[in-house]
Amino acid sequence: MIQRALKQADPETAQALAGELERQSSGLELIASENFVSEAVLEAMSSVLTNKYAEGYPGRRYYGGCEFADAVERLARTRAKQLFDAEYANVQPHSGSQANQGVYFTMLEPGDKVLGMDLSHGGHLTHGHPLNLSGKLFEFVAYGVSRDDERIDYDALHELAKEHRPKMIVVGASAYPRTIDFERIGAIADEVGASAMADIAHIAGLVAVGLHPSPVPHCRYVTTTTHKTLRGPRGGLILGRKKDAKAINRTVFPGIQGGPFMHTIAAKAVAFGEASQPEFRDYIDRVLENAKALAQRIAGHGFRIVSGGTDNHLMLVDVFSKGVTGKDAELALDAAGITVNKNTIPFDENPPMVCSGIRIGTPALTTRGMGPDEMAVVGDLIARAIEAREDESELARIKAAVAEMTDGFPLYPQRLAAARA
Ligand SMILES: *Cc1c(COP(=O)(O)O)cnc(C)c1O
Repeated sequence: MIQRALKQADPETAQALAGELERQSSGLELIASENFVSEAVLEAMSSVLTNKYAEGYPGRRYYGGCEFADAVERLARTRAKQLFDAEYANVQPHSGSQANQGVYFTMLEPGDKVLGMDLSHGGHLTHGHPLNLSGKLFEFVAYGVSRDDERIDYDALHELAKEHRPKMIVVGASAYPRTIDFERIGAIADEVGASAMADIAHIAGLVAVGLHPSPVPHCRYVTTTTHKTLRGPRGGLILGRKKDAKAINRTVFPGIQGGPFMHTIAAKAVAFGEASQPEFRDYIDRVLENAKALAQRIAGHGFRIVSGGTDNHLMLVDVFSKGVTGKDAELALDAAGITVNKNTIPFDENPPMVCSGIRIGTPALTTRGMGPDEMAVVGDLIARAIEAREDESELARIKAAVAEMTDGFPLYPQRLAAARA
């Protein structure tokens, strides 16, 4: 067994990995951007393809011996195109951030104007944060949600687009619980002569099965991660039009990356294959059902849910509505074996390192097999832990309850047995 080789060769690293496996297995994972991949995806990721240099693209490599690397990348590309009904796919970006760079550096020149969603309203670092390359190189103008319903203010976005005449409009979010109107964004972009880029890093799994409208017909570029709701290996993907294929390919390699991670691309192929099965649609269905059930339960404990609920796999809980900061809520939940992240809410009164909210997602727990009944229990445990944030013994009791609950939903049982042996 592979784990045995690691244990013998490097006990320190093996111990840390075993600890992480125990942590994932015994806790309630509610970070909205995380998931648990299949054994098949893990196997592909830890395959001998990690040894292979394959700079270039299938059929046009800078190295010999690429016939199997070619086969794997062709599979991944074909499956990605089928899954999202796209003309073109580049499966080489190492991450979601690099997928976005791949589009930016194809389409934009330094100093160009871009509209992107305000980070504190749910946008992403790569959508113009001043410390991110995107914010340093391009002139991002932020749009956001409206105060009254906390949904994207498309009318205000439209006005901003007419005023600033950006070269690109970026749409997509890391902490937005509502359906995004890609059609409207595409139309606004067309009207002002901009290109639309949809970053579906979070909702790719929903889009793949048709449980969120697809941006593919409306946005010239679509980027995503492969490791969030799509439940594949950590990585990125660019989808687009045939006419842009050459330019995007050249940007990704040699523009911003060297040799592709062929083991990861193999795992992407496996994950795209899995996502095209009917079981994956059922899975996403349950993710959405669980998110609604959990949001309702948490609201039942008196917490305000940002925008009043959720259409997708995540929710933002305004814990400050009960006088608790996001930071303190995150810490209390962590001590109780419940993993979430603090998150700003729109028009947050607290500084970013403190926050008024927490972000909660159901993809990982749903993968473990939990359903709405469990979500009710989880919602109660969350409320109990936040309430008991200064009571260490009560937090320890909740942690024990969490461990007992997760025992009933085994995660990677063979690996766990091997690590414990
Ligand atoms: C997660 C995320 C990314 C970045 O993905 P990484 O793989 O972490 O670089 C980009 N955009 C959005 C909207 C995201 O949520």
